[in-house]
Amino acid sequence: MNRNRNLKSSFSLIRMLGLALALVPFLDLNAEELNDDLQWFKGNLHTHTLWSDGNDFPEMAAKWYVDHGYNFLALTDHNILSEGEKWVKYSLVESRGGKDVLKKYLEAYGDDWVVTRGEPGTDSHEIRLKTLEQFRPTVEKTGQFLMIQAEEISDRSQGKPIHMNATNLVTVISPVGGETPRQAMENNLRAVQQQARRIGKPIMLHLNHPNFGYAVTAEDIAAVVQERFFEVYNGHPGVNQLGDDTHVSIERMWDIANTLRLSQLNGEVLYGVATDDTHNYHGRGGSRMGRGWVMVRASDLSPESLINAMNRGDFYSSSGVTLESTSFNKKKGVLSVKVKPEESVNYRIEFIGTRVKYDRTVKPRKDKDGNDLAVTRQYSADVGATLKTVEGPSASYKVAGDEIYVRAVVHSDKPHVDASFAGQVQQAWPQPVVITK
Ligand SMILES: [Zn+2]
Ligand SMILES: [Zn+2]
Repeated sequence: MNRNRNLKSSFSLIRMLGLALALVPFLDLNAEELNDDLQWFKGNLHTHTLWSDGNDFPEMAAKWYVDHGYNFLALTDHNILSEGEKWVKYSLVESRGGKDVLKKYLEAYGDDWVVTRGEPGTDSHEIRLKTLEQFRPTVEKTGQFLMIQAEEISDRSQGKPIHMNATNLVTVISPVGGETPRQAMENNLRAVQQQARRIGKPIMLHLNHPNFGYAVTAEDIAAVVQERFFEVYNGHPGVNQLGDDTHVSIERMWDIANTLRLSQLNGEVLYGVATDDTHNYHGRGGSRMGRGWVMVRASDLSPESLINAMNRGDFYSSSGVTLESTSFNKKKGVLSVKVKPEESVNYRIEFIGTRVKYDRTVKPRKDKDGNDLAVTRQYSADVGATLKTVEGPSASYKVAGDEIYVRAVVHSDKPHVDASFAGQVQQAWPQPVVITK
């Protein structure tokens, strides 16, 4: 008996050692080579509720995302967390959300859950908003759905809106301000970094809708080199996604910012997120849910795993296209993208990048009197050039070695399910890969 047990335990010791040895060679490998342990999680990092200027209750907003196959959601109300006691007037709720808004809330959550005070039909009628801690258990499910505490730090500088989302923070951050948009971005970034250090947890910061009010230029985004994320797509119809005659599109800003950062500012690569920026949950108008999201490849559904994955660029953004995979094989220098194709939808995969010896000519944009405009300047076509285009649901790009960075974008010919701008088709944006700095 004893001998058997000894044999058995020495056997399991050998097995454990073997396992440990077998694991050793993998420790140096990158995450992309450990794919098997990673899962895709779908999430929206930008949503509003009645805690600020959204038009539905927070748990109703969360419920929509649960019911539509998302795995995580960040409520990002303006300069506020869903905590403490907050009452909203019924008249305000109704004026924003329509006459059925309370009925829908009661149908979903019941009389016992909904807390009101005052006399219906009078100005005293109010509804108490649930805190994140209160409603979290009604929507969260381990491994399936997660709420991440967040805030849209909504600042202003030179009269322009500077909005940045801090995800996974613990205490509210008041906008710090700054003399220029760039300084405001830097100051708020620093406040987020300080809190992250204090709480010992990662907080993800992303710059929102840079073309909203044409507040932020590509040069601003490039200059704030520690800012790692920005919204390459925001579903709000008022964010000037495509720019105009004097302002570049948001996607063009991405290429300009990355080119400047990586070739001149010794900065980190900038990643692009897609978000809803939901305000309107009822009817067809306004900024609605389901327009843009991120797919994050993480080991588990926790704020830390998701943020760590995004920090290493292991995610893509989407406005409808789902990917089977997107990966960069460092050894072979090959960037590959594979779409999960839908029937009778055509795909075009474009590889975009800037080469080291790009034409550095830059021209300021002028107003009609010949004065320089404070907008993103004009860069040569070498910046964010199309390096290769493939028709079809899968494609790869072999790096030549003289690229600063390369990224892919997937265009489909399928109209967006709820377009935020004219002619919008469903797309996906894998993250840029740095080749040479
Ligand atoms: Zn905003
Ligand atoms: Zn917002």
